[in-house]
Amino acid sequence: MEFRKSLFEKTTLLVDVVKEFLQNIEKHKDLNVFLEVYSQEALDQAVIIQEKINLGSAGKLAGMVIGIKDVLAYKNHGLQSGSNILEGFKSQFTATAIQRLIDEDAIIIGRQNCDEFAMGSSNENSAFGPTLNFADKTRVPGGSSGASAVAVQANLCHASIGSDTGGSVRQPAGFCGVVGLKPSYSRISRWGLAAYASSFDCIGPITHCVEDAALLLEIMAGNDDYDSTVSQIPVDSYSEISKSDKKYTIGYFEDALNSEGLASEVKDLTQKKIEELIALGHTLVPLSFPRMKYLLPTYYILTMAEASSNLARYDGIRYGLRTKNAGSLEELYKKSRGEGFGKEVKKRIMLGTFILSADYYDAYYTKAQRVRRLIQEETNAFFKQVDFIISPTTPTPAFKIGAKSDNPMEMFLADIFTVHANVVGLPSISIPNGETVDGLPVGFQILGTEFEEKKMLEFALNIQKIDF
Ligand code: GLN
Repeated sequence: MEFRKSLFEKTTLLVDVVKEFLQNIEKHKDLNVFLEVYSQEALDQAVIIQEKINLGSAGKLAGMVIGIKDVLAYKNHGLQSGSNILEGFKSQFTATAIQRLIDEDAIIIGRQNCDEFAMGSSNENSAFGPTLNFADKTRVPGGSSGASAVAVQANLCHASIGSDTGGSVRQPAGFCGVVGLKPSYSRISRWGLAAYASSFDCIGPITHCVEDAALLLEIMAGNDDYDSTVSQIPVDSYSEISKSDKKYTIGYFEDALNSEGLASEVKDLTQKKIEELIALGHTLVPLSFPRMKYLLPTYYILTMAEASSNLARYDGIRYGLRTKNAGSLEELYKKSRGEGFGKEVKKRIMLGTFILSADYYDAYYTKAQRVRRLIQEETNAFFKQVDFIISPTTPTPAFKIGAKSDNPMEMFLADIFTVHANVVGLPSISIPNGETVDGLPVGFQILGTEFEEKKMLEFALNIQKIDF
């Protein structure tokens, strides 16, 4: 928010702000954040919006420079979902969420690298190579919105817009020391978001501070004729959150905090935060969540099933890449898909197809749906006792590039704390919670109740510590 003050006090020109970001992007090209930078357009927009600022007619986001994950449609701009299968594809329309930002005078500076079709936890599954964590370039930034988090961490733009199906906004935010917000399911229209698992997918902002996340949510959220699943519930004035000394009852999963897989420094920093919360007068309640062990299997069974269906549309006929060496129609489909998709995406399409096959549908898909419902009921019961549930965002800080590439189970475990919110459709935010002795950021996650983003954001605002 600070950046806007100097613009409106007229001590800074917007075009200079954009130029500085463009220089930073150039300087940090090795991080592999942007797949495309819209330099000239951003500079042209800066001139137009500066004029509006001078005339006093600027929108709520005037001065904000935003990068978008390569899964969001922006008319006449490239969209590849980090995949070769969408080679050369350009969007014919703009995602509702992005259009709303533009309508409020945000400047879109470019599109950002990500795991292919948002499947991954490290940004290593991109067809365009991995993105590096700015805190330690030998480490991953998290995923799948890894580059979107690094863009904010390395000051390449003010904020990024990512997507979160199982933690893809919060987990990289945690690994990069920035704020990542996943709203309630259906709070923001999914029109123009490349689908991964439609009953989980959420668009969400990555920012330096809670205030910016609140403002971006307020602008992107709400009813949209193009998405019949979007919530009709009126959008709260999230940007009006203010500091308060309200006391809350806060739950945490005791077993998770004592689990072996939790890195000791992450545990210590989380424990310290809990003590701080108690000192502030909040009531902390240990909760027992035996079904936690079913979160990852439920999440992965359902998302792979949905992905296999959603990704059927990439057939070499309608979008992007088409193989040059096919003799028949069937071969055209097979070869285009074979050449276009990466290893992780192929694996998930095949597993998802298996899960949905007639013989196994009930054993896997139906069962996982039932477990999802049970987890939802159990989570709702927790919220009869508590206002929020807190946890670390991830069990470990950012890991080394390549460290988990051959071990899918370990990679999946990086999402253990984040998938809960998506399985049950609740809002959740990751805020920075200090660093390890090696300077690796650690995140702190808050899970709130459905459509109570304002309450959650206000709590996050009260406990955030900003140093950027
Ligand atoms: N890492 C998780 C997955 O691979 C989450 C991804 C996401 O939220 N898009 O499915």
